[in-house]
Amino acid sequence: MSAKSSVVTSILDQLSALGHKKVVYCSDPDTGLKAIIAIHDTTLGPALGGTRMWNYATETEALEDVLRLSRSMTYKAAITGLNLGGGKAVIIGDSRKGKSEAMMRSFGRFIKNLNGEFITAEDLGTTTRDMEYIGMETKHVTGVPESIGGMGDPSPATAKGIFLGMKACVKEVFGTDTLAGRSVVVQGIGNAGEHLVELLRQENVEVFISDINEERLHQVARKYKAKPVDADKIFGLDVDIYAPCALGATVNDRTIPRMKFAIIAGSANNQLADEQVHGQLLLEKNILFAPDYLINAGGLINCYSELTGFGKKRTMQLTENIYDATRNVIKMSKADKIPTILAANRIVEKRISDIKKIKSSF
Ligand code: NAD
Repeated sequence: MSAKSSVVTSILDQLSALGHKKVVYCSDPDTGLKAIIAIHDTTLGPALGGTRMWNYATETEALEDVLRLSRSMTYKAAITGLNLGGGKAVIIGDSRKGKSEAMMRSFGRFIKNLNGEFITAEDLGTTTRDMEYIGMETKHVTGVPESIGGMGDPSPATAKGIFLGMKACVKEVFGTDTLAGRSVVVQGIGNAGEHLVELLRQENVEVFISDINEERLHQVARKYKAKPVDADKIFGLDVDIYAPCALGATVNDRTIPRMKFAIIAGSANNQLADEQVHGQLLLEKNILFAPDYLINAGGLINCYSELTGFGKKRTMQLTENIYDATRNVIKMSKADKIPTILAANRIVEKRISDIKKIKSSF
């Protein structure tokens, strides 16, 4: 087999392994655009997902990332009851140096050619300004600035969802959903993390915070009377709840043995390094894990509202459903003695399969 055909086979194998429908490679040498759009599933509606700009070391790494992230978007939309499918895009390059209006508009034209099958929004390395440029070429973009009719920053809605998912877990573990008197460590106090700290402090929670950005750490600590902790001390802390709000894969073989937490609930995507292995380890250790893609869906709900024309009130109502959805997942996890992440996956897969069937009838 030639090298060329083995590459083609391997990409198609990756698509079929994760259940993807389509991958589009976008190249525009005039603007320097190199991008990949992955569409995972469109049973429930158009595939919605952010565009991430990142300096990937290789194309293979970029493809792996976009496949993994687009699949998560299918799950996030489905579990929240939204009529959206899952997709994602990555632009390969340095977002601080390599971006231009022309590049973003060129990318917008690739999205336009997908005729609504894919809708994008901002993500790491892209901004609402970039969405505005994309929006000059296609209407299939959301997350544009409030000043031009968008819903603006999704982080408050994301934090609200995390807060409610946390309450649903606290209800399970401590018998009441009040957070007052509990202790939480928030890892990463960026856009989502800071809003979460604010909500927790309003409810008299003892909050510990950690961030690699020292200046921000002390500023947020002062503002909300939170207690800063060193990054390497987080996993040994004797607190009720760990809220990962920075990076993925922080729940892994190395960290789980050190954990004394009762609950893990945060905004970061893909918190479990391995869903099966670490989901099971947490279950055995009696640590309740709030599925990340469920409780961090507030940002996606915000984008959905922008598309459908719902206002802020309706967005908050939809976000509030995260509490009941989390309770349902916990219920299934207990009844079937399976990790919460697998219970959430089952609920998603059933919804998609049920809707697929009704769509096949006239
Ligand atoms: P952000 O970039 O604003 O904040 C991330 C923060 O984490 C920064 O302050 C950064 O300094 C800190 N950080 C990075 N590495 C760290 C480490 N090792 N230890 C401690 N702190 C570290 O990002 P965000 O928008 O707040 O998103 C945070 C996470 O939540 C991301 O994984 C993102 O994908 C996810 N998420 C965010 C939203 C949203 O609406 N903002 C929605 C869904 C999911």
